[in-house]
Amino acid sequence: MRKRQIHLDFHTNGTLPVGKKFSKEQFQTALKAGHVDSITVFSKCHHGWSYHPTEANEIHPCLDFDLLGAQLEACKEINVNAPVYISAGFDEKDYLKHPEWHWVCSPDKEEQAEYEKEVHFHHLCFNTGYLDALCSQIEEVMVKYNPCGIFLDIISPKVCYCEKCLSDMKNLGLDTENKDDLWKFAKIVFNKYTEATNAAVRKHSDTATIFHNSGHIFKGDYEFINSNTHLELESLPTGGWGYDHFPLSSAYVRSLKNTEFLGMTGKFHHSWGEFGGYKHPNALIYETSLSIANGAGCSIGDQMHPLSEMNMATYNLIGKAYSLVEEKEPWLNGAVNIADIAVLSAEAVTGTRDSKADIGTNRMLLENGYLYNFIDTTMDFSDYKLLILPDTGGISDDMIEKIKTYVNNGGKVIASGDALIKDGKFILDTGAEYIGKNEFEPTYYIPCHETVNGTTEYIMRCNSYRFEAKDCEVAAYMQNPYFNRTLEHFCSHAHAPNNPDETFPAAAIKGNVAYIGWDIFTAYANHGHLCFKELFTYIAEKMVGDKLTVRAEIPDRAVMTYTRQEEEKRNILHLLFAHTTVRGTKTEVIEDTVPLYNVKCSIKHENKPSGIVLVPSNEEISFEYSNGTVEFTVPKVDIHQMIAITD
Ligand SMILES: [Zn+2]
Repeated sequence: MRKRQIHLDFHTNGTLPVGKKFSKEQFQTALKAGHVDSITVFSKCHHGWSYHPTEANEIHPCLDFDLLGAQLEACKEINVNAPVYISAGFDEKDYLKHPEWHWVCSPDKEEQAEYEKEVHFHHLCFNTGYLDALCSQIEEVMVKYNPCGIFLDIISPKVCYCEKCLSDMKNLGLDTENKDDLWKFAKIVFNKYTEATNAAVRKHSDTATIFHNSGHIFKGDYEFINSNTHLELESLPTGGWGYDHFPLSSAYVRSLKNTEFLGMTGKFHHSWGEFGGYKHPNALIYETSLSIANGAGCSIGDQMHPLSEMNMATYNLIGKAYSLVEEKEPWLNGAVNIADIAVLSAEAVTGTRDSKADIGTNRMLLENGYLYNFIDTTMDFSDYKLLILPDTGGISDDMIEKIKTYVNNGGKVIASGDALIKDGKFILDTGAEYIGKNEFEPTYYIPCHETVNGTTEYIMRCNSYRFEAKDCEVAAYMQNPYFNRTLEHFCSHAHAPNNPDETFPAAAIKGNVAYIGWDIFTAYANHGHLCFKELFTYIAEKMVGDKLTVRAEIPDRAVMTYTRQEEEKRNILHLLFAHTTVRGTKTEVIEDTVPLYNVKCSIKHENKPSGIVLVPSNEEISFEYSNGTVEFTVPKVDIHQMIAITD
């Protein structure tokens, strides 16, 4: 899969001039300046217009030549791949023409009227003639241009109250007022959409790539995952996704075997749709480095001016990042990420997007410099050294059996909150007896281990769970507040102080199993108290500290990943560091960067390596090897440094 891709947005109102400044040479010059090897170009935009002569749709009213064909030709001449974008779900022209195709968001006519007044594109329902129209547009592109791929955007299952959906639901015996039934039918329609559009592509090509963009890859949703030939992880750090979304999403996607994927960021200051927005080159260098360090290729979002001249400031900016990716490619090809820790994704267990339990776990693992993957219940986790079950209950009986086998075979488990509880009992032997959910929130945590601020009572702003310690090490104790803050009684500006009259156990360790009686990961996602991480870290270090593959002396904001290139018989350590600053009201920017110097690293390695080299600069560094561990010092990490450790 090509690693230096562009996603070229081109949503153009029907009154604006299109293509007047397009030049094949200028298009090619920009792609070369950007070190681009693949670009997604437009057949049809969210406004509903095609950018080529068409029988299946209408060409943009102000375009008088085959812009798509010209772009494809330009790409082919310079060996740049060019998958084709077709808007699916948004088609504003058809929305105005076909009221019978409208997605109806609510049974309430006023709410629907409010939605229709929004100044934005409006969704169409795939359970109408719209799907047939879309498929004939896809087929036309396939026949006419035979592109290397099709990118459909932007789709997800949607509950729809249109006449057709409600009548089809009734015919299937589904209750149109029952939320579960509505979602069930939404999934039926969504599957009908993926099957029909995939068939429209496959009818004309066995090899074209297909991707259905929904802005997020739902963990454990194989109906969706398997409808794509590869995955593109839309994750613009400044566009609402933040800098945590991509590491978390990629930590799951790379656990899917044989699935190639891209990390998609943007060149924008904020997000999609922005003309005239540019981020600092250091931000793009960091974001593309983060993609490749996590086993992904790169895709950078751009938006072309309607006149269709490529913006050279944009491609010079992109070139600063992609020229570096190009140099690094020999150490990326075929690389597989190595991980010590598996996290059973709460999103995969519950089906709820952006679970706070996942987000908090991801943050702690990143900040601790641990090597980890997120998994769903279908994946094998027997080789991981530690399995984390964060906060959320509802784990299936099958999975519980697999976890028991894993523990019996020596695997370690850290679970928290509701994750280890079923029918009022612990599902694993924790050396403790479960009592029940605590009625108090917040509560206080008293550590039985070293912390930065010493032993005292620390506020825990989350659900908590009571148990009796029987045959376990107690790693933390809990105290309740005098009372919950209610209308009946409150104290001071926030919560009531701790009541020291009663102290009870809050974290238990027995053998291979540890249990934390707080929703500690959700709390960390919401509040980020240091003490939450200190408790988790104490337990993790105690259980697997001496087994972790890589240790690097890096700050909390740094990122570390480790990959294996089997063919080349070498491992690659990736160290990344850049700090973000909030600009405006909420935009995290990366501008100035501060290098890290003399980073000490220690890696478990079966045999003495034949060499350790900073790449791509090819500078050898000295190392010491003893007792299966290699130690070395990386002189400088300037945003991103790769270190190749050859067998
Ligand atoms: Zn509908």
